[in-house]
This record gives sequence, structure tokens and C-alpha cells, in this order.
Amino acid sequence: MTDERLSAARDPEQFRELGHEVIDRLADHLTAAGTRAIPVSHPLDPSGMSERWPADFRGGADPLALVNQMLAESTVTHQPRYVGHQLPAPLPLATLGSLVSAVVNGSGAIYELSQVGGACELALSKHLAARLCMPETSGGMIVSGGTIATLTALLAARQARAGFDVWRDGAHGGPPLALLTSDQTHYSTARAAQIMGFGQGGTISVASDERFRMRPDALSAEITAARARGQHPVAVVASAGTTATGAFDPLEQIADVCAEEGLWLHVDAAHGGSAALSPKLAPQLAGIGRADSVVWDLHKTLPFPALVSLLAYARARDAYGAFAQQAEYLFRTGDAGDENMGTRTLECTRPMLSFVAYLGFATVGADGLRTHVERLWELGQELAGLVRESDDFELALEPECNIVCFRHRPPEGADSDAHQERIRIAVNASGEFYVVQTKLRGVTWLRCALMNAATTRDDLLALLAALRSA
Ligand SMILES: *Cc1c(COP(=O)(O)O)cnc(C)c1O
Repeated sequence: MTDERLSAARDPEQFRELGHEVIDRLADHLTAAGTRAIPVSHPLDPSGMSERWPADFRGGADPLALVNQMLAESTVTHQPRYVGHQLPAPLPLATLGSLVSAVVNGSGAIYELSQVGGACELALSKHLAARLCMPETSGGMIVSGGTIATLTALLAARQARAGFDVWRDGAHGGPPLALLTSDQTHYSTARAAQIMGFGQGGTISVASDERFRMRPDALSAEITAARARGQHPVAVVASAGTTATGAFDPLEQIADVCAEEGLWLHVDAAHGGSAALSPKLAPQLAGIGRADSVVWDLHKTLPFPALVSLLAYARARDAYGAFAQQAEYLFRTGDAGDENMGTRTLECTRPMLSFVAYLGFATVGADGLRTHVERLWELGQELAGLVRESDDFELALEPECNIVCFRHRPPEGADSDAHQERIRIAVNASGEFYVVQTKLRGVTWLRCALMNAATTRDDLLALLAALRSA
């Protein structure tokens, strides 16, 4: 006996009909977002979650009604007044790649199930690693996000530089292992160190300068101090575009220290890697080609839907160190194995993430995407300029990319931190803009990541006006 609803859900003709309707609905949504006809967000109280999305699975719900509700309750990254976290407005064209990948449902772990995904991954990794000036020996993969990419790279770093076989003997098979990173690094680095069994003391924090960039002199001093304590540092994690302020660490100098000390250099370019597409912006990444591994999220400052992250190694073979393990039933030993990406990825089943970005790069072209990145960086400058010209706002620092931290001068005697939070919440509640905040050295600042190339100077002026009147 077959279930009638299940049969309908399987039916290609229903898919065709419903699919056309969903695409129409999405295109209307994109048009409304682009013309600012719908709010940026619809702040809803978390207490109402189970009422809005009940655990009612008796079946029979109208799929279009659910799609409509999904759109109505979601934050709208395609609205040019979305100026909050680092989520892009994905190219609608690229999102079609997600749909096609979902329908095909190959798996990236083994070649036979992912002939296309594997090929796209290879081509993209090659192109992007070359953009990063990585050597001929480099090789990469596309994985599910920067967090997983960094964990994977650091597993390879650990195996390569621990001085003992960590995969076989465990993290406690030798001296206590550690990594060094600036006090501004994304939390995924410390999390990776903890997962690898380094303990809390295994993430050594290196002081940053007044512009929140890692200090190479402090790095050298911390390496010496760690060794004197009996720790064995294996890697340095530098940032190319920190999450809080968009700061770029001095990679040349850090690479010098790593070369001298025999440490693995991992560069977290999740946010800032896209500067490599622009000859004008690429100098921000000077030295990145000397890294042992680099992470670059293509779902941050490039307009692709999550998740699609490049993990590139300077020596492609290093990738095998991350998971020094054999799964005979999937990966026949003795094979070159290169086309079975699962030997080097944390994920087993993995959607064909690379197809989405391949579609974008192949159709728009790297040069078209360059103009997207340059526009985002330019928007950072525009907002900074408007803040500078105003009498009542101030910058935390001059932005290096599309992340701008600033604040409104509070009325006499008022607490600045509470003031920023109050006006931010009021503006977000209106649905007109979406802005976030961050704490820098104990002080609260408003934070904008300008992720939508369609944002205009007028939008930014309106943002300051909205914050002011709040
Ligand atoms: C977003 C971000 C990450 C985490 O990447 P995910 O793709 O969200 O897992 C890591 N580092 C930096 C600098 C980031 O901005």
C-alpha cells in the first residue's frame, strides 16, 4: 500500500508545477527585497516558536503556505538595508545550483558518486589557490564552512608538526601541544584546539596592535614563553579579515616568524580571502602565498549561498595528515586516492557544495565577482566617511574592508554601551535596517558588515538618521 501524499511528493509533475510556483514566489521576493518594499527583518519573540512552527506532522500541510511563511519570518539579506552579520545576498543564479545539487544528491566523499562535484572542486581549488599565490604543489577542497575547514587544516598541522604520531598515540602521546593566535581570532580556532585535545592552555593568545592586527614581536615572545613552559607549539593561526573589525594580520612578518620557528602557518581568510580577486585589494593579503594552509569562505564576501569554503594546502599531500585513517570499504588502499575526497574531509556524506560556486565563477567570471568584492570594500569606506563627517557618530578605527565599527555619541552623562545597545535594538525592531554590535577591548560598538553590493550611499545616510532618531 502506498501513501497518497508520499506518492504526490514523489511525482515529477507535481515537482514541475510546484517548482514553477516556488520560483515565481522567490523571484517576487527578490524584487520586493531589492526595491526595499519589504522590511529587512521581522523580529519575533523566541517564546512563540512552537506556535509558529508546531510539531504537527500529521501531514497535509500546504507546501506553498510553508514557503510563504518561511519568507515572511526570515531576515532578508537581499534587502540592501541588511547591514548586519557576514551573510551575503546570494546570486539567485547560484542558488539554482543548490537546488540542482539537492536533486542529484551525489556525495562528495567518493568519486563514483560525485564525478561532477569532484571535478568542480578541483577546478575551483586550483584557480583560487593560484589567486592566493600558493605554490604549484598546492591542492584544496571545498568543505562545509570555515569552522570545519580550520579544524581540518589544524588536524593536518598537528600531525605534521607534533613530532610524534598523534593520530596513533593521541594528543597526550608527547609534550602538551599548542597553537598561537591573536586575541581577535574567530572562536572556531580555539574550538578546534579544544577538539584536538590541546586544553584551554593550548590556545595561546597573542596581543594585537591598536588596529587589532597580530603583533609579530608578541608572537615571537609567546613562542619562546610557551616552550619555556614545556609546551610544544605546532601552528600559528593568522587572520585575513577578523570577524569583529575586518583587520588583516601582517602575514609576511608572521610567515617569517613561522619559518624561523618551524611552525605551521594557517591563515583564516574566511572573510578577507576575496580580496585576492582584485589586484587593487590583494596587497592586503601579502604573504598569504607562504601559508601552509588557508581557509576562504565563498559564502561570506562572495555572493554564494552557505556553505562553500575553500581549504587549500601549500602541499596537497599534507591533506592526508588530517585523517590518517583508512576506510577500506570506501577508499581502496593502494589507489592514488586523489579523486576520493573523503580521505581528506571531515564530512562523510557531503553535498556537492562546489557546483554552486563553480556555476557562479563560470557564468559571471572571476572579473565580475571582483567588482562585487571591490564594491563591498568601497561601501566600508563610504560608511566610514559618513561617520567621520557627522558630529554625533565616531569610528572605532578606519575600516580595512567592508566591516565598520562605530558608535553614536551618547547624551551627556549617559552610559555609552547601554546607549548603543538601545538604539540598535530600536532600529532593528523597526525592520528598516539590521545592524549588529560588538565589544572591542571592553567597549560596545555598533558593527556593520556591508554584504550587499546593492546598498547605496542613501541607505547608509538613512541608517545613520534612523540610529540618530532612535
Ligand atoms: C565566519 C568566520 C569563520 C567561521 O566560518 P563558518 O563558515 O561560519 O564556519 C571563521 N573565521 C572568520 C574570520 C569568520 O569571519
